[in-house]
Order: sequence, then structure tokens, then C-alpha cells
Amino acid sequence: SKARMFNNETDVRVRFADIAGMDEAKVEIMEFVSFLKEPARYERLGAKIPRGAILSGPPGTGKTLLAKATAGEAGVPFYSVSGSEFVELFVGVGSSRVRDLFATAKKNAPSIIFIDEIDAIGKSRGKGKGIGGNDEREQTLNQLLVEMDGFGTQEHVVVLAGTNRPDVLDSALMRPGRFDRHITIDRPDVVGRKGIFMVHLKPLRLASTLPEVGKFAEKLAVLTPGFSGADVANVCNEAALHAARVGHDSVTEDDFEAAIERVIVGLERKSRLLSPEE
Ligand code: ATP
Repeated sequence: SKARMFNNETDVRVRFADIAGMDEAKVEIMEFVSFLKEPARYERLGAKIPRGAILSGPPGTGKTLLAKATAGEAGVPFYSVSGSEFVELFVGVGSSRVRDLFATAKKNAPSIIFIDEIDAIGKSRGKGKGIGGNDEREQTLNQLLVEMDGFGTQEHVVVLAGTNRPDVLDSALMRPGRFDRHITIDRPDVVGRKGIFMVHLKPLRLASTLPEVGKFAEKLAVLTPGFSGADVANVCNEAALHAARVGHDSVTEDDFEAAIERVIVGLERKSRLLSPEE
């Protein structure tokens, strides 16, 4: 059914306060929030609002989270789709999905469209031709460009897209009136990780033997170099799961140690799978 063609969240609860760090990215995305809330303020002055933004950064650094928070802060519906979903489709299906997605977003404007893994459809055209599926990918990309160009200035739909491969994107996507903003999100440093730990420790029932939460978050941040925000969230949840498994009635330091170990093993396995020659 049409309703299941893409994810539709009309009541996004994520807010900027749920995102630790990323201060610059938040400032940049604020422009879209205030436009979606008060388009008249911009239109009165004759300003052309940027149509969309590419959010680029390594996996798990909070690109989807930031896009959702933009919708949450602006109080507008959020329509999301993953670029990789298009690749497997029969010819013609991808472009009709894109058309439906934009039609729905326009009907419910002001709204946000989020395209995760845009590189799956937005790869520079003409590369790797001859393999099945490329025509479909290209058609989907073309339809996306057509939709973005077809917006009138009165249409209050913002298109955000996530990628961890901004280098492979077709430059046509970056033309004015398309994704005219590029927001980079880096892997968090130790201070960033501390902030993310603070967010994800909050819902846990922590043992009273643990240091005060700020101190403890700092300690965990030091122990987790290279972790993304998603990895940090994962550690917190694994710690709680571990506590439950061994029958603790609150989450202890041992649970966190076990969780960090478990997440590190998972990350090592993943990187081995990605580079099997090593
Ligand atoms: P991918 O590239 O794999 O799609 P992504 O960059 O879109 O990843 P998200 O899905 O937004 O990453 O992040 C995954 C989860 O990690 C979030 O739902 C959240 O729990 C946590 N997370 C990531 N960054 C932050 C942050 N800065 N503050 C709080 N939580 C974060």
C-alpha cells in the first residue's frame, strides 16, 4: 500500500536537547527550523530559502537524529526513505516512489523529507554502467532532481539527505535550489562522547556505587576512543542488558566494562568484514 512506501512520522519527538554536541551542525540546521516555523519572515524579505542540505559524516554520528530533531523542533511531519531501498526495485518503481514521497510531503507541508544513504542513488552518473540496476538508479536520481527543481518558492518542504560518502555524489545534486547546504558531522571527540554518554545514561538505573554521572560519563568517554554516537548509545544499552542478564538491580561499573568489551568486539568484527584482505 502507498502508506507503507516510506516511513511517515507526523509526531516527531526528538529535540535538539536529545543530541549532545554537534553545535555547529545544530546552528546550521536551525535556519531550516526557523524557515519551517515562520516562512513569512523570509518571504517578506524576498529571501530564497535553501531547498535542502546534505548531512555527511561517518555511520552512527547522528545524521538521522539531527534530521528528525529538525522536524521535531519545527513541529512538522517527517518523511524518510533510504537510498539503498531503491537499488533493488524494478525499473520505474523507484521514480514513482520518489514522486509519491514528494507528493505526500507537499500535501502535508510544511514538512521534511529525509533521504538516508543518498549515495546509493546519488552516485555520480555514468560510473559503473552496464551492470543491472544502474538504469533504475539513474532514473530514480533523475526523478529526485526533477522533484527538487519542480518546487515552487511557496512550497515549504525541506529535503535533507544523509551520506557517509559525500565524495561520490553527483555534482548535479549540489546545484543551487537543490541540496545547497552541506553540513558535516564528525565523529565525536572525548568531550563529545562525554555529552552523548550523559544523554544515554539518563534513562538507566545506575548503581549508587558509581561516581556522580558527569564524572562517570567522562570516564566512559576516555575508555571509548573512536566510538560513534551510535556506539555510545549501544554501550549504555548493552550495560543495562548485561545487568539484567546477571541479575543486578541497578547498572554497575562491571556491566559497563562488559558492554564496552562487547561493543569493541562487534566493531572489530564489522571492520574485518569490511576489509577482508587484512
Ligand atoms: P547511519 O549513517 O548509520 O545512518 P546516522 O549518522 O544517521 O547513522 P543516527 O541513526 O542518527 O546515525 O544515530 C544512531 C543513534 O546514535 C541515535 O539514534 C542516537 O541514539 C545515537 N546518537 C548518535 N549521535 C548522537 C548524539 N550526538 N547525541 C545523542 N545520541 C546520539
